[in-house]
Order: sequence, then C-alpha cells, then structure tokens
Amino acid sequence: MANNTEMNHKAERIALTRAIEHEASETAAWTGRTTFNARVIRAIAEVPRHLFIPGAPPPGIAYANRPQPIGLGQTISQPYIVALMTELLDLNGGEKVLEIGTGSGYQTAVLAEIADEVYSVERFADLAASARATLAKCGYSNIHMSCSDGTQGWAEHAPYDAIMVTAAADGAVPHALIEQLKPGGRMVIPLGPRHGPQMLTVGLKDQTGRFTKHPVLPVSFVPLVSLGKEG
Ligand code: SAH
Repeated sequence: MANNTEMNHKAERIALTRAIEHEASETAAWTGRTTFNARVIRAIAEVPRHLFIPGAPPPGIAYANRPQPIGLGQTISQPYIVALMTELLDLNGGEKVLEIGTGSGYQTAVLAEIADEVYSVERFADLAASARATLAKCGYSNIHMSCSDGTQGWAEHAPYDAIMVTAAADGAVPHALIEQLKPGGRMVIPLGPRHGPQMLTVGLKDQTGRFTKHPVLPVSFVPLVSLGKEG
C-alpha cells in the first residue's frame, strides 16, 4: 500500500523477512508456529520501516532485526516481534483491528497491510502526531488514530475482530479491551511488570464471552501506563 517513492530498500526488507523466518523456526518450540503466514511476511516486505525511525537511520540499522528507540523512552519493536504478534492474530483480511500503543506507527502499518480497518490509540501526543504524518506519507487510508488512554480501548468503534496491545500490562488484561473484543476474537498482549518477567499472551474470547489466556513467549516491552496513574 505504500506508494512508489517509499518503496526503496526493498532488498533490505526481503533480507529482513528472511531473518524473521529464521527466528520463527528457532522459536517454534514456544510459539507452536514454525513458519509465519504469507500475508504477514508480505506486509513486512512492504512497509518502509526506515520512515518510522527518527533521525533517518541508515538501512543497515532501519532493517536490522532489532528494536530501536523512537523518543520519549519508547521503542519501535523488533521486526520479528511485530511479525509474531501479527501472526498470532490470525488475520485473513477484512478484519477491524484495535491497536493499543501506536508508537512509531510501524506495527500499525503492518496491520493495515492485512486488515480492513485499523484503529490505533497512543497516549503521547508527540508520538501520535509523528506516526500520523508517517502513515499519511505512506498513503494508508484505512488507519484511524486516537490520542487517549488505551487501557480504555476505543469504545466508539467496538467491537473489534482482533486487538493488539504493544505495551506490557502489569496484572490483568484491561477489562475494557476484553469488553470491546468480538466473541470469537483474538487478542495479543504482553503481560508482566515493567522490569520483571513479561509473557507475550494470546487471549481468546469464545462465543459465550469467556476469555482465556495462553502464554506464548517471554518478551520485554515498555509498560502500558494508564493516564492519571503515572507519567
Ligand atoms: N507498536 C509500536 C511500539 C510501541 S511502544 C511501534 O511499532 O513503534 C509502546 C507504545 O505504547 C508507546 O508509544 C507508549 O507511549 C504507548 N502506551 C503506553 N501506555 C499506553 C496507554 N495507556 N494508552 C495508549 N498508548 C500507550
């Protein structure tokens, strides 16, 4: 979906998809998935990650399979983690997805390559503004953004087929997010304390509304911070 002027660095993106596929096979014992869906790999091959990292890093850095700082103490996730989290949502296209923690907007773009509509919530106005500008530059028209407290979800557009949280919730999955997930829907969320052990978790809401959690992989995320609780 990114337009032609942004489609340079394709070779670096293809190399990145290979690194992700390699790491997917290495982590299969945890994730239960030896390969990732072709839609996910194609999305990584499409999104110009170099535009989402401040300071115009050289392609060797922008397309390394590593997390990077994006300012305000936040990070753009490692591409393998972005791919894994997208994979775990089992998107087929056509879904309405809620993302909590827009950050740079990179994961948002990856979701928008696959899903029908993406609703993304970020608490920091500066990050939301620069993500909005980058996503507009890439030409996405199926992304909707809100600068607010993502622990409250985005009730106006609920329910969602899938929800992705890209910051770690210490304790329970926020109730509003479970409420706003469709029966039969999937959630991916890191759970655990700020500096302690965190577990990437898949949440499933069945047709009766029962929500169950399934641990996937130990991870390290910045904290999900409720507005009014912490800076
Ligand atoms: N997916 C992002 C990575 C984001 S890091 C990317 O690809 O760049 C996690 C983000 O969650 C940070 O930008 C942080 O500001 C945001 N965040 C933390 N708590 C939040 C909350 N309660 N509501 C909305 N965003 C939150």
